[in-house]
Amino acid sequence: MNEFELIDRFFTRAVPAGSSVHQGVGDDCALLDCGERLLAVTTDLLLEGRHFPPGVDPLSLGHKALAVNLSDLAAAGATPRAFQLALALPRADESWLQAFCGGLFALADEHGCVLAGGDTTRTPRLAGEEASSAEGPLTICVTALGDLPRQAARTRAGARAGDDLWVSGALGEARAALACRSGEVRSLSAEDAAAFQRRMDWPQPRVALGVALRGVATAAIDVSDGLLGDLGHILKRSRVGAVVEWERLPRSEALRRLPLDMQRRFSLAGGDDYELLFTAAPAQRVAVEAASAASVVPVSRIGRVVAAGEGLRVIDADGAPMATPWRSFDHFAA
Ligand code: ADP
Ligand code: MG
Repeated sequence: MNEFELIDRFFTRAVPAGSSVHQGVGDDCALLDCGERLLAVTTDLLLEGRHFPPGVDPLSLGHKALAVNLSDLAAAGATPRAFQLALALPRADESWLQAFCGGLFALADEHGCVLAGGDTTRTPRLAGEEASSAEGPLTICVTALGDLPRQAARTRAGARAGDDLWVSGALGEARAALACRSGEVRSLSAEDAAAFQRRMDWPQPRVALGVALRGVATAAIDVSDGLLGDLGHILKRSRVGAVVEWERLPRSEALRRLPLDMQRRFSLAGGDDYELLFTAAPAQRVAVEAASAASVVPVSRIGRVVAAGEGLRVIDADGAPMATPWRSFDHFAA
């Protein structure tokens, strides 16, 4: 049972008729009816040892804990309003807390997103570690709330055959940072390695672009688990297929200095990109470019939406199908 089968089987229930839940489990945000507006709600958990290594810089950790949630609001096209913060801390370390709050509140203030509540607790001593002082793992859970006009509702389910497929920014660099850490990538300049690490530690949620694409994009998701896997969620929910043109995938200069097989694997299936992947009718190309210019976030047209029967294909510059044997990230994969 993988992560999504588990959620489908145990936590995806029919929304009762008359409920104010407009969009329930299965999208980047839940959407709740509030009269003329929809309230968008999303939760993301960061766990030491799974989402970040022990000893990571608390300044960037504070930023990232909120950024990954604002990225889900961006997918829904919601304006951030408030967030809740639940923490399980091994100890009350003043300098750690100072730095964590520095990163957290700088991003919150930039987006006018107000900390409105939460919960704080201490982590227990790990089982079998009574003799040591090992306590863990540090756990950070943020729930972010935003809103949008009811008629601007956007989910993963609205893509139509014939739509263009777009992605913001550039892909694959956070995955390249992991590869540097594991030794998978060796001959690399210090500048390139630092650029990759920045993309891993300081994701920039595409909030302004997400809002600017209201009424323009037919479907959207933020790329957190890898482009192909997250595109798969749009295709499944929208009951369509897609063709991705490998040559059109946005890759930074630094990523282009890696071997071609790594460029492919990292940009198609890397994860932790926090870019917006979205679909829009070809008639909206000028509107998409205008949204990109207004939000100062570059976008690339990387393919098109096709009928469901065609599945998901990646093609090279000559139009030949490319093998894509990589899985996107799954917490419960064998
Ligand atoms: P995202 O990557 O956008 O945060 P996820 O892949 O984590 O989304 O989750 C997929 C969907 O499943 C989301 O709608 C999320 O809210 C929902 N979900 C995940 N875990 C649970 C759970 N334990 N109970 C209810 N819904 C869940
Ligand atoms: Mg998401």
